[in-house]
Amino acid sequence: MSKSVPFLDCCGQPVLEVVKAFATTDGETISIRRCAKCGCHWYYHMKEYYLSGDDYDRRAWYVRLSPEEADTLVKSSESPAESLFADRDGIERDENGIRKSQGIPGFLQ
Ligand SMILES: [Zn+2]
Repeated sequence: MSKSVPFLDCCGQPVLEVVKAFATTDGETISIRRCAKCGCHWYYHMKEYYLSGDDYDRRAWYVRLSPEEADTLVKSSESPAESLFADRDGIERDENGIRKSQGIPGFLQ
């Protein structure tokens, strides 16, 4: 499964594939994804939130990984702690749109 994620900045036409999916809880997903176009790896953390009734939307956080980090995380059996990226630039997508962020996004704190 690959997904176009045009707002990422690893290359001109990012398309992400899941390389490693960690155990997910209800409404929450953590995975390591790789851009099929340029080979760059991204940490992906998504959390669903409820609007009203059965409607829900998703908030997502992306952090670009170095090849060494990706290698380590893909081999790990436990999902990486958010604190690992506490001082990193990332990209956040939520109900207010898409923006660059630094550190752990509010929706995960
Ligand atoms: Zn790319």
